[in-house]
Amino acid sequence: MLPRFKTVVFDVDSTLAAIEGIDWLATLRGPEIAQQSEELTARAMAGELPIEAVYTTRLERIRPTAQELLLLADAYQEAVEPGARELIAELQQAHVQVHLLSGGLRPGIIPFALQLGVPVDRVHAVSLAQDEDGTFSRLDGDQPLATQQGKPLTVQRLQLRRPVAMVGDGSTDAAVRGVVDNFYAYTRVARREKVVAVADAEAADFEALRALLFV
Ligand SMILES: [Mg+2]
Repeated sequence: MLPRFKTVVFDVDSTLAAIEGIDWLATLRGPEIAQQSEELTARAMAGELPIEAVYTTRLERIRPTAQELLLLADAYQEAVEPGARELIAELQQAHVQVHLLSGGLRPGIIPFALQLGVPVDRVHAVSLAQDEDGTFSRLDGDQPLATQQGKPLTVQRLQLRRPVAMVGDGSTDAAVRGVVDNFYAYTRVARREKVVAVADAEAADFEALRALLFV
């Protein structure tokens, strides 16, 4: 098997793991906040609302603590998609550079990435600032990945080795399509028509994805 791409960029939430991290944190605040968060996330990922319109709203309602962000890292690991770890290992053995590109929260994503064998300098996610009360309800300055165009901007800035494939489930991943060689919609966790419509192909699981990434 030979790799078709020199770089493969993965989304995290609902792609490498079967959870939306921010919605998982919201469940710690009870059913009402959990439902509000889930609705906002679903509308943003379906392309009905720009992600920046919902990002800080969700954070300010949840106000995660440092301890809860560590628990989120565990939740990602427990929800890892079947075959994800193996495919990432296989890609890296074939000298394909694997990057994680996420609108999720960096403290939760870094331990998960390390467990998947992806080095920290290839993990791109949203950093938070800690408030005086110890909670994290604000972005740490300018965080492009908390915006709708953040993923294409980050991919361009990274000057990745081409050809590049992007794999993800959401509208923010589909936005990368114009700046990579192939965009694949990952649909086992969440299948969104608008995302599938612009994808070069759809992968219903990691076995199907493997067939798209190797020849
Ligand atoms: Mg996603």
